[in-house]
Amino acid sequence: MKSKKEFQTKEQHLHRLQEGVSFGDGKDYSPSEYTKMAREKAIEWRDMYYRTDNAISSRENSIDGSKENGDGDSTGPAPSNPSNGDSANTAAAAASTPSSSAGPSQPVDSESKEFNTENLEKDYWNIVETQSQSVVVEYGNDVNANDFGSGFPMSERGRCLEGGTIDVDKVDLPEPKFGTEDYYKETWWNLNNIPCAPDSILRHVRVGINGINVPWMYYGSLFSTFCWHNEDNYLYSINYHHWGAPKQWYGVPGSKKDAEGLEKVFKDYLSMKMRDVPDLLHHITTMFSPRLLKQGGVPVYKLVQNPGEFVVTFPRAFHGGFSYGPNCGEAVNFATHDWIRHGADANERYRSFARPAVFSHDRLTFTMANHLQEQKAYNTCRLLVAELKRVIDEEMRLRNKLLEAGVRDLSGEINLPPNRLDQLDEESADYDDKRLCHACKHVCFFSCVACECSQSKVSCLRHSHYMCRCPPEKKYMMIWAEKAEMGKTLKDVQAFNEKLQATSPDTASGDVTSPTSESGIVPDVAPGAEEDATKQKGKIIDLSCVFPPRYPLTAVGSKGNAEEMSGTDVAMARPNKMGLEEDEKEAKRQKQNEEGVL
Ligand SMILES: [Zn+2]
Ligand SMILES: [Zn+2]
Repeated sequence: MKSKKEFQTKEQHLHRLQEGVSFGDGKDYSPSEYTKMAREKAIEWRDMYYRTDNAISSRENSIDGSKENGDGDSTGPAPSNPSNGDSANTAAAAASTPSSSAGPSQPVDSESKEFNTENLEKDYWNIVETQSQSVVVEYGNDVNANDFGSGFPMSERGRCLEGGTIDVDKVDLPEPKFGTEDYYKETWWNLNNIPCAPDSILRHVRVGINGINVPWMYYGSLFSTFCWHNEDNYLYSINYHHWGAPKQWYGVPGSKKDAEGLEKVFKDYLSMKMRDVPDLLHHITTMFSPRLLKQGGVPVYKLVQNPGEFVVTFPRAFHGGFSYGPNCGEAVNFATHDWIRHGADANERYRSFARPAVFSHDRLTFTMANHLQEQKAYNTCRLLVAELKRVIDEEMRLRNKLLEAGVRDLSGEINLPPNRLDQLDEESADYDDKRLCHACKHVCFFSCVACECSQSKVSCLRHSHYMCRCPPEKKYMMIWAEKAEMGKTLKDVQAFNEKLQATSPDTASGDVTSPTSESGIVPDVAPGAEEDATKQKGKIIDLSCVFPPRYPLTAVGSKGNAEEMSGTDVAMARPNKMGLEEDEKEAKRQKQNEEGVL
């Protein structure tokens, strides 16, 4: 066995997912070891609860065709790790319980049940909601694509933040043609590239933040769960399914009303727990059924994501779900220009929890204002104007208030380094880390208050009175952004926006709020969901093979490692193209070849 890098998994107790307890560490696996384990687990579950031709024959051989009696020894290991010292609660024990309602499914001697998403979805919620059996799965989430290889090949034109290269001869060539090897390296749909795409705000963040602008890989197994959450800083996210079993998604609209609706269901349900851990939702360890959310008046939509499909989540939109077997996905955040107002909301929320943001919202806002040529539309540019105005108004109001109270302005005496506004690089991020408000952890980007009693503590303008008991005269303000400079920035953006208003075709549409349940025009079913459900209905989950990624992976210079990615020991350097019919045929052929192996 080749030596392979291993990632650590998280151990998820499905029957306790509603309680919000934190996850323990699971075992370490290389991607291929993980996939092997995940496949075995899924097969165990299938053989235990589902009648399939394979399962029936192996069962008949081993238990003599007798009625299902939950004999754990003869049917192989239980489909889950028994919880420590609690053998009465293991899945194997549950299967032998006379009352079949306790288990997730009817035992295998009942009517033939197909191993498909509809039945497995019921199994899943049975386990989560009834806690009738203990099921433990290991989830390989948040695996750094830099260390383990992205599923996408790396750009040679400097389009990804980390791991790529720049081939000066290629940079000025026309965009590669769809379907070519270069296309997959350079397309903005490549998740390594999307944060730096021309209309992405995050392209100004030139420091790699794992999971934000550097993708994370997700190795899933049957029922491994991504719990309810929305994205850091209310960013958008984009998730690609590379290969393997489908993924079940549930989503709640990103409107304030619906996001708060979900939060209320959480609070009502976990009121005791939330008293100790007020930001429980940020821990991403809690799962709730869509049924419970609907009861609370929260609209929930669902979809099944198959290999080759993207799922995009919108700002503040809560989402969660689980896998139907071994699979591999990849995800990263992005932000378009309309995100700015959601970023502002997220920033306020983080301050209320004293949770440090992943980057300074004020810095990003001002950096955007310094790249005005990127503003293409009046409707989004005016969001930037509104946000600048909001932060500058508050800043000036609080400065005046503090000066009136006797706090000194020492900016004339202290030489502070100016704020860089061309990009958010490592140096500026380091500097920002040193000026977090002691109370709300906000990056004091424009100014801060300090006190003679402390060399290190600083405060934002909102919280200086909490910092110490010293009188205002002992406190002083340090200012990085002068009033005149801030005023000029705002004026420039306003002027640019007026120009856009005169020329932009989208001016007429006026309101930029998207259709949400706040305006009462949310459909009952998400567009396209019914067609998709019809298309996928009854599709049996295929564990006979795990599909390799469907695009070239072993390009020279690529950090994405085909062998690691595929989870098999077969080299996957097939010259196939994403979504091409030929590839489907090849996959089928391969499947037929491998059938019966398991
Ligand atoms: Zn503060
Ligand atoms: Zn003091």
